[in-house]
Amino acid sequence: MDKLYFVVGSQDLYGDECLSQVAKDAADMTAFFNSKLGSKVRVELLPTVVNSETCIADLRRVSCDDECIGVMTWMHTFSPAKMWIKGLQELRKPLLHLHTQANEKLPYDTIDMDFMNLNQAAHGDREYGFILARMRIPHQVVAGFYQHDNVIAQISQFVDVARAINFSKHLKVASFGNNMREVAVTDGDRVESQIRYGWECNYFAIGDLVKIMNTVTEAEIDAKMDEYTSKYTMKTTNVAAVREQAKYEVALDKFLAENGIGAFADTFQDLYGLKQLPGLACQNLMGKGIGFGPEGDYKTSALSAVLMKMAEGREGATGFIEDYTYDLTAGQELELASHMLEVPVTFAATKPEIDVLPLGIGGKEDPARLIFDGVEGDGIQVTMVDMGDHFRIICADIELVKQPKPMPKLPVARIMYRHKPNFAVGTAAWCYAGGAHHSVVSTALTRKDIAMFAKLTGTELIVIGDDTTEADLEKLAVPCCR
Ligand code: MN
Repeated sequence: MDKLYFVVGSQDLYGDECLSQVAKDAADMTAFFNSKLGSKVRVELLPTVVNSETCIADLRRVSCDDECIGVMTWMHTFSPAKMWIKGLQELRKPLLHLHTQANEKLPYDTIDMDFMNLNQAAHGDREYGFILARMRIPHQVVAGFYQHDNVIAQISQFVDVARAINFSKHLKVASFGNNMREVAVTDGDRVESQIRYGWECNYFAIGDLVKIMNTVTEAEIDAKMDEYTSKYTMKTTNVAAVREQAKYEVALDKFLAENGIGAFADTFQDLYGLKQLPGLACQNLMGKGIGFGPEGDYKTSALSAVLMKMAEGREGATGFIEDYTYDLTAGQELELASHMLEVPVTFAATKPEIDVLPLGIGGKEDPARLIFDGVEGDGIQVTMVDMGDHFRIICADIELVKQPKPMPKLPVARIMYRHKPNFAVGTAAWCYAGGAHHSVVSTALTRKDIAMFAKLTGTELIVIGDDTTEADLEKLAVPCCR
C-alpha cells in the first residue's frame, strides 16, 4: 500500500519531557490519520526532527522508499529552520506542510509558559514556511485543526495528487509514429517532460506493434471478443472488422506489458501494416487507465494517464477528448467534443454500441468503434502546452450536459459541455492562454486537484471558471506582461 510519512519538527531546547510529549502527540495524530485515510494510504511516523542530522535521516528515508508517495510535515514546537536545509535538499517526494496543532482549543484557564512552548505551530510553522519559500521547494500548505473534516479532506486530496505524481515519475510513454505533420500544439519538449514529470517518452515503429499483432492467436481474439460482448452491444454484423480491432488490442496489451508502458500515442498518418485506425481498441484500453493521445500527442496521452491515476477511487469519468464543434445559439452555447474514433468509454452514459462505419480520413478500411452519449455533471477540462521555456497547464471549469437532441448520423461517441463563466469569456480565455484542442476532461477531479498538481510539479497554471472576468482576459491577452 502507498505510504505517507509524517515528520514532526521540534528541537532539544525545551527538555526531554517536552520531546516525549511531542512524540506522544505525533503518535496519536498518526493513529487518527490512519483511522481516516487508512483505506488509501498508510501514514507512518518518523523520528521527531530535533537537529540537522535527524532531519537528513528522515527525509532521506522518505526519498528512498519506493512505497512512499509523499511526506507531511508539521512543527509541534519551534524548530529552527536551518536544521531543515540539508534534509530538504535530499527530498524528492511531494511535500505537504500541515499547519495545525495537537490541541483544538486554547485552555484559557490553565495555559502557562510550558504549554505555550509546547504548542507553538503559529511560531514554528512560520519559520518552516520561510525556509520552504526561501529554498523554492514546491509544497502544499493545509491549515486547520487536524481532526476537522475539511483538513482531512485536503490531506486526502494531497494523497491522490501525490499518488498521481509518483505514478507520473515512473510513467513510460510510447509514440507509434511521430507528431501529426504540421500540428503545433501537440508537440513538445520530451526532455523537459522527463525532467519535470518523469515521463520517459520514446518512439516505436508501428511495425513493432504489427510484429506482435501477427502472432496473436484466434483464441486470444475470441477472449477479447468475449470481453467486448460482455460489456457492449454488438450493433454491427461486420464481425471480422471488430475482430481486427480485438487483435490490435491484444497486441497492444502485450506490447504495453512487455515494455512497462502506461500511455501511448499513435497517428493516422502512420498506420503501415494496419487495416484500420485503432478505434475500439484504444477506447477500451482508455477505460482501463491506459493513457492515449491521437495524432502523436504524447503530452495528452501522459497527462490523461496521470489524471486517471489521480481520480482512482473517486466517482466520475476522466479521459482524453478533443474540442470539435459548437452550437452558438445566443445565450445557450454548447460545445460538442469528440474525436475521429477514440473517445474513452469511461464517458459513456448509455451502454456503448460497437459499430463499423466509414472514416473519412486516413484512407484505411472502415474501423470498429464504440458509440455512446456522454455523461453529465460538473467537470473540468485540462490541457498542457509547451510555451518554449516552460510548460503551462490550463484548467477550465465546465458543465457536462445531455445532448439536446439525438445525432443519429454522427457515428462517434461524444460529450457536450457548457463553458464558464460563459461561452465568450471562457473560450476566449482558453484561446488567449494557448489551450490545445486536445485535453483531459474529468467529472471526478476539480480545479483544486489540478492546482495542487501544478504547484507540486512547479508548472504554470491558468484557471478559467465562474471567477474569470473580462479584466482577466485583458491580462491573458498581453503575453509580454504575464
Ligand atoms: Mn485530434
